Amino acid sequence: MTGEERVDVAVVGAGLAGLAAARALTAAGRRPVLVDKGRRPGGRCATRSLGGAVVDTGAQFFTVRSDAFARLVADLRADGCPIREWSQGFARAGSVTDGPDGADASSDGHPRHSVTGGMNGLAAALARDLAVRPGTRALAVRPRGAGWVLDLLDGDGPRRVEAGAVVLTAPVPQSLALLGAGGVEVADLARLRGLTYEPCLTLMVALDRPAALPGPGGVQFAAGPVGWLADNVAKGASAEPALTVHASGDLSEAAYDLDGDRVTALLLDAVAPWLRGARPVTTDLFRWRYSKPRTPADDGAVAVVDGLVLAGDALAGAKVEGAVTSGLRAAGLLTGG
Ligand SMILES: Cc1cc2nc3c(=O)[nH]c(=O)nc-3n(C[C@H](O)[C@H](O)[C@H](O)COP(=O)(O)OP(=O)(O)OC[C@H]3O[C@@H](n4cnc5c(N)ncnc54)[C@H](O)[C@@H]3O)c2cc1C
Repeated sequence: MTGEERVDVAVVGAGLAGLAAARALTAAGRRPVLVDKGRRPGGRCATRSLGGAVVDTGAQFFTVRSDAFARLVADLRADGCPIREWSQGFARAGSVTDGPDGADASSDGHPRHSVTGGMNGLAAALARDLAVRPGTRALAVRPRGAGWVLDLLDGDGPRRVEAGAVVLTAPVPQSLALLGAGGVEVADLARLRGLTYEPCLTLMVALDRPAALPGPGGVQFAAGPVGWLADNVAKGASAEPALTVHASGDLSEAAYDLDGDRVTALLLDAVAPWLRGARPVTTDLFRWRYSKPRTPADDGAVAVVDGLVLAGDALAGAKVEGAVTSGLRAAGLLTGG
């Protein structure tokens, strides 16, 4: 992007909402360009390497409930995206500190899907053939004539792009900040400001041998310092043994700014009874400032003004499917679909 490039539709955020929006816009004959401050598409649908292991750090699995999402998943599978059914429920336990003996397997017959090689593969499949510009941060969105100007910052410095229409898919507080910086008035501001998110501290742990978590390799905890524990081999992400540990909402809130070594030690201590003698080889701590919307809305997406749409998981029931649903709705608002 150099100088005052003009694009048809600028999509800020190449997470699942932005990617789904861009796919639907393309299918409707529009020419979207996505910008994302991250190094690759996916946002919270994220997978990282840890030594030789592969770890899903954000979304762990997804469910498919709507016909539109089922069609999209079928299309992605047909294109070669290795989506697999991981389970029909997970083990449940009171607190991680109680150890694995009290964990109960639970199945509700509803498939939970993961992606072989890691959940980010879902985003990579959605991004295929789309114009995605990673490493590009939007700073402000301001009106100009019948369209919009975006102030951007990438590795080459600041630049501007003019867009006929804009879809904002960052977490809502971040999207509102972009509009605020550009002086755009938002009618529904008080309600949109009420869309807040839990943080999540995520510990990635590569092990010297498998931890043998109870089947199917994911455990949900009702209370205590850990909310979720997953075996990345069991879910098909990794060939090498590695765990994902999501701190509970309460701990993530309380310890968000604590020193990383202290948080790591605390979480490792909490999961120790579940390791069955396996030893951590490498760890890495990741902090999600915006993890899950606390009280998601059901608008789908919001047309802030003509030609500017706000989307993202907080507007369509949260989760992977909510993000995709919101992106599809945002495209519909721009194309009359
Ligand atoms: C720890 C964790 C566990 C989860 N577990 C599950 C689960 O098991 N199942 C499930 O269904 N869902 C889960 N989720 C939720 C799921 O990941 C999200 O609902 C979904 O990925 C959100 O997609 P999105 O496109 O709305 O937002 P995001 O993925 O947040 O995408 C927004 C994008 O905008 C970019 N961005 C932000 N600001 C700017 C800017 N100024 N300029 C340029 N780019 C910008 C970001 O880099 C990001 O890529 C989990 C999330 C987390 C964090």
